[in-house]
Amino acid sequence: MSIETFYRDSWAEVELSAIDFNIKQLKEILHEETDVYAVVKANAYGHGDVQVAQQALESGASGLAVSLLDEALKLREAGIDAPILVMGWTRPEDAKLAAEQDIAVTVFQQEWFAKVKTSALSKPLKLHMKWDTGMGRIGIRSTDEMDEILSYIKEDSRFVLEAVFTHFAMADDEDLTHQSQQEQRFHELFSHFERVWPENVEIHTGNSAASMRFPERMKHFVRFGISMYGLYPSSIVKEERPIDLKPAFSLQSQLIHVKKIDANESISYGATYKTAEPEWIGTVPLGYADGWIRKLQGMEVLAGGKRHPIVGRICMDQFMIQLDDEYPIGTKVTLIGKQGDSEVTVDEVADYLETINYEIPCMISYRVPRMFMRGGQMVEVDNPL
Ligand SMILES: *Cc1c(COP(=O)(O)O)cnc(C)c1O
Repeated sequence: MSIETFYRDSWAEVELSAIDFNIKQLKEILHEETDVYAVVKANAYGHGDVQVAQQALESGASGLAVSLLDEALKLREAGIDAPILVMGWTRPEDAKLAAEQDIAVTVFQQEWFAKVKTSALSKPLKLHMKWDTGMGRIGIRSTDEMDEILSYIKEDSRFVLEAVFTHFAMADDEDLTHQSQQEQRFHELFSHFERVWPENVEIHTGNSAASMRFPERMKHFVRFGISMYGLYPSSIVKEERPIDLKPAFSLQSQLIHVKKIDANESISYGATYKTAEPEWIGTVPLGYADGWIRKLQGMEVLAGGKRHPIVGRICMDQFMIQLDDEYPIGTKVTLIGKQGDSEVTVDEVADYLETINYEIPCMISYRVPRMFMRGGQMVEVDNPL
């Protein structure tokens, strides 16, 4: 259960009108018949799954995609009755539960079908067959494997093949050789499929990168993840800017202690930082247990509309910043987001950590309450503590 308030001085803000904007921007460039599935796995990339899912559906998404059955069940429990696809592996023994909850599962293994006891299925089970065209993760790779799986599906009317799909590994790259190869393999598999499977199924191939860069090649729907949250999948796509995006996520805190300390005094564990001269030092109540990991030592945060560096080691629950002046307790500290003309973006934090923007909101832990905003007004709080 989560509570609708919190008593700490750090929180994430999730601007739901940005989610709305980003979905509508994508729909502008897609064919009219191409639908959008909102990818809300991993607690909606750390943003808050139920709230983002509800917003996405309101903004025109026709379905939801997650990685785990548990994530799908949470959405059903919240009263969401839109189509949900589990894109990862679901255990055969859980197929019955997926069917009962009208959750579509991803299939690609004959062993899986051999283990699913169709007699145990009390309702039809929706299947999306995954084709591995060059990601090398999950999916069938040959027409032989496809035929074997199709024969299992044919055998029992409780299996309903809704869709076939694939996932691209390099749709966000400058070099599109691998992308073309994957599309080519998909066409080869599909031309076989068409010959052996008379019924209509849906096709979905695109992630954010493919759906924004090649909207004309998208079929029944796309799986829109990172860019629904207002982030570009790579620096290449960011430069190309196929659509405008608004980032939804910001991370806020407040100064809870401010002091002036003498020259040659040390800050935090290991005394890795020593003041060169008398300095104003502020304490921020957020640390590595909140996902603001120790590698972020030296990164800048915003206070009073200016940048200030994190000095000394980041602790589990707190870190210190060097201030250019005295600031009152309660001064807003922005770790991700804007203050006046200054901004720290998710991309900047990702660059600092030598990783991708996807990882940043995902790593902000359950301990940081999510505050949902619409047009700058708070509409809901989710605090799992
Ligand atoms: C996560 C995921 C997506 C979404 O990718 P983005 O790059 O975030 O748009 C789409 N399809 C699959 C199979 C995924 O695992």
